[in-house]
Amino acid sequence: SSNSLIVSFGEMLIDFVPTESGVSLAESPGFLKAPAGAPANVAIAVSRLGGKSAFIGKLGDDEFGHMLKDILIQNGVNCDGVVFDRAARTALAFITLRPDGEREFMFYRNPSADMLLTESELNLELIRKAKIFHYGSISLITEPCRSAHLRAMEVAKDAGAILSYDPNLRLALWPSAEEAREQIMSIWEQANVIKISDNEFEFLTGHETVDDETAISLMHSGLKLLLITLGRHGCRYYTKHFHGTVEAFQVKPVDTTGAGDAFVGALLCKIAKDESIVENEASLKEVIRFANACGAITTTKKGAIPALPNEEDVLKLLRG
Ligand code: ADP
Repeated sequence: SSNSLIVSFGEMLIDFVPTESGVSLAESPGFLKAPAGAPANVAIAVSRLGGKSAFIGKLGDDEFGHMLKDILIQNGVNCDGVVFDRAARTALAFITLRPDGEREFMFYRNPSADMLLTESELNLELIRKAKIFHYGSISLITEPCRSAHLRAMEVAKDAGAILSYDPNLRLALWPSAEEAREQIMSIWEQANVIKISDNEFEFLTGHETVDDETAISLMHSGLKLLLITLGRHGCRYYTKHFHGTVEAFQVKPVDTTGAGDAFVGALLCKIAKDESIVENEASLKEVIRFANACGAITTTKKGAIPALPNEEDVLKLLRG
């Protein structure tokens, strides 16, 4: 089919990343205002690789919301499904970089515009055009966005789209771990392609390391492909017929933010062009190798969106 549109649904926000740590207040450390939100990162990753991409979500009608929409447009992402909330503000995340390299998040979300998308604001025409409909979990946490999310999934599925899910667990945003697990698993049942990280595998199954038996038990009849990313150790893949590992590329990471989203964007780009690649192990491994390369490149630059590669960057790494 000539239709290869990938529609990503969910949150988009601004990360305030301190540009220097340990600078005294008098020296006035700066903040980098970095566009963020996993589904938006995926939309831009797809577009940068030359894929057809659209984003559906809600932004505040403020400086930040308009900045985010401009970034999507500059990156060639279709924004026909982007709406603005007249009252609520764009979500903001304030990040503290701890000395050990860990990040701490504090959110402006009370509630923010991204959580206020309603069913009636959905661009159903756009959703029905999707070859792949991709989404996360944050849009499931509260109403009215939750109902909009579920309706969008249903419309996409009825129109024949492949449903792609990356739970992207942000535990702190959920009322409880039990609720997060429950909601993730209820959405899980409907997805055709799922990508999780090893941390999410542990959260969902209680198993610290990824074992085949448990991973296979997560498969269901509609699920064509389950990917478990392992950071610098690459990625495990599971289909109904085969499973295995594709090693990561060796790079010097600077900031791993967005690696998973780059990986998903790359994977979806390839599946949108030819969904049968999932059925052949050799071709699937090629695609995962491509996605691993995208993830690896994204770790070598600061930020998520600025670090996302184009196809040429990826081919360079693949050639070695
Ligand atoms: P997430 O961001 O969802 O936690 P990962 O960190 O596992 O996802 O990254 C996704 C993919 O990006 C990995 O499967 C791997 O191919 C690549 N990647 C991530 N971190 C590194 C790294 N340090 N070195 C090389 N590749 C990496």
